[in-house]
Amino acid sequence: MDKKLHIDTLCVQAGYNPGKGEPRQVPIIQSTTFKYETSEQMGKLFDLEESGYFYTRLQNPTNDTTAAQIAAMEGGVAAMLTSSGQAANFFACFNICQAGDHMITTTSIYGGTYNLFGVTFPKMGIEITFIDQDASDEEWAAAFRPNTKLVFGETLSNPNVRILDIERVAAIAHTHGVPLIVDNTFPTPVNCRPFEFGADIVTHSTTKYMDGHGVQVGGVIVDSGNFDWEAEHEKFACLTEPDMSYHGLRYTEAFGKLAYITKATAQLMRDLGSIQSPQNAFYLHLGLQTLHVRMPRHCESALKVAQWLEKHPDVAWIRYPELENDPEHARQQKYMPQGSCGVMAFAVKGDRTFANRFMDSLQLVTIETHVADCHTCILHPASHTHRQLSDEALLAAGIDPNLMRLSIGLENADDLINDLEHALTQAHNG
Ligand SMILES: *Cc1c(COP(=O)(O)O)cnc(C)c1O
Repeated sequence: MDKKLHIDTLCVQAGYNPGKGEPRQVPIIQSTTFKYETSEQMGKLFDLEESGYFYTRLQNPTNDTTAAQIAAMEGGVAAMLTSSGQAANFFACFNICQAGDHMITTTSIYGGTYNLFGVTFPKMGIEITFIDQDASDEEWAAAFRPNTKLVFGETLSNPNVRILDIERVAAIAHTHGVPLIVDNTFPTPVNCRPFEFGADIVTHSTTKYMDGHGVQVGGVIVDSGNFDWEAEHEKFACLTEPDMSYHGLRYTEAFGKLAYITKATAQLMRDLGSIQSPQNAFYLHLGLQTLHVRMPRHCESALKVAQWLEKHPDVAWIRYPELENDPEHARQQKYMPQGSCGVMAFAVKGDRTFANRFMDSLQLVTIETHVADCHTCILHPASHTHRQLSDEALLAAGIDPNLMRLSIGLENADDLINDLEHALTQAHNG
């Protein structure tokens, strides 16, 4: 078969092709080490002259199967699993950025990533510029420096569901000779494949929809293989010049399009050790096999709930890209026409007490610091993640004190609407 396979088929079959008498489902290779017959065989593995397994901190067959599946789904050349989404974003940047370097990130990113870049990276000597993703061409151009190594953004941001203009930002990054790295956690490759719009590297928190059942914390980095590191030889000396920890091996020369992921595995994973456990890679693999069935249902139900909330007199405003009145609707039609994801942001009218009474009266929708799995859940930043802040401080930070992040799961949409309706009525009755 040479026809390009659809994403549905890739979800079910990519990455694993068992031979005669082998298990149909991916086996969990729960082993730290792998046996060899001669000391020379083992030596070649350590020199990266041959590929093979020797220690699970670097590579494990279950992880590699799942990584290959995700690489195929994104249309990339290679992928590496990490222990969490945080580790994925850290490794993705740190692989090409070190003390004395600079990187640019958009401001519409997950809170954990914001802290990683804004607080921890500067401690490691990496300078950061934050920029609004829809800043003017002049503002973007002014953000670059001679030591800038990458641009980072989220395709669909957590929690405020803003959509990155991937094509434009990729073109800006490329004009300055650096790659665009995007976190594609929320839409997943079922709804958006960033490489088709010029992004170079994709990351995910697989903890969210990819697993989909709330059982696995994990992450992944996928490389498109499209960025030409050699064209920027000096800027990316970490890939093009000898690595002394591998007898002077040059990643681009030895591995071509696989240079970036090979370095991440052979150097960063070796030294920093944030591998995903094979058991979690198995759960992730299981989740991926139904991702193409789950995502459309998340979107369909979320749109139904969003349309209902939009008309409700107690709702001050709502953001969900599929709503025709949403400021990002046109962008959704371009980058994720089949749907964004199940997450929306909205605010109820009234004070914090009303908001709390509403939340406490919900029965099916649960209060959780999580999003993007099969259970519908809600979070009220003013009462949870940002509870130290007064209403005035929240407004100054651009957060409506009544903002709620609602993540629609796989329950029946009418049951969810009834639950929301009942809770709003209860909130009025005190
Ligand atoms: C949750 C999340 C992360 C962090 O992932 P963990 O698996 O919790 O470490 C990163 N990016 C986005 C967009 C997320 O939603």
